[in-house]
Amino acid sequence: MSNSTSGQAFAKHDHRHCIKAALKQASRICGERNGRLTAQRKRVLELVWKNHKPVGAYAILEQLRAEGFNGAPPTVYRALDFLLEHGLIHRIESLNAYTGCAHPGEQHTGQFLICSQCQRVAELDDPKVKTAICNSAALLGFEADHQVIEIRGLCPQCQDH
Ligand SMILES: [Zn+2]
Ligand SMILES: [Zn+2]
Ligand SMILES: [Zn+2]
Repeated sequence: MSNSTSGQAFAKHDHRHCIKAALKQASRICGERNGRLTAQRKRVLELVWKNHKPVGAYAILEQLRAEGFNGAPPTVYRALDFLLEHGLIHRIESLNAYTGCAHPGEQHTGQFLICSQCQRVAELDDPKVKTAICNSAALLGFEADHQVIEIRGLCPQCQDH
């Protein structure tokens, strides 16, 4: 499991590497799937990856407008849908915001650790959790096919304050 970026979310690190890796992976994945990573979609991805705090569609919209891109809401939502569809970003339901996927192109369920203080998010990708949920659901005759788990708490840095 490559969690080079996911594990780093709460640690001190050079975030430029995260952005660079994310853009590189995005062009590879889009290339493989014939998805068109237009300049605007790429910029939206960059904005989502600005840091490890999920960003809302409205903030992205504002930023794009400031940069002279077509900042019409449907354009931004289409770009976000494209990135979601290709597994490059995730939507954090409880924050109504988006975060960059730390291991795009890999099959994984969404398990997110969300710091209540600084709002940074790290992806936890533990197959044991997924299996446990599938098994418990199966006991009720339920066939689980999609899981998103959002876990609140304090990141190491916020615990120190
Ligand atoms: Zn980073
Ligand atoms: Zn992910
Ligand atoms: Zn925190």
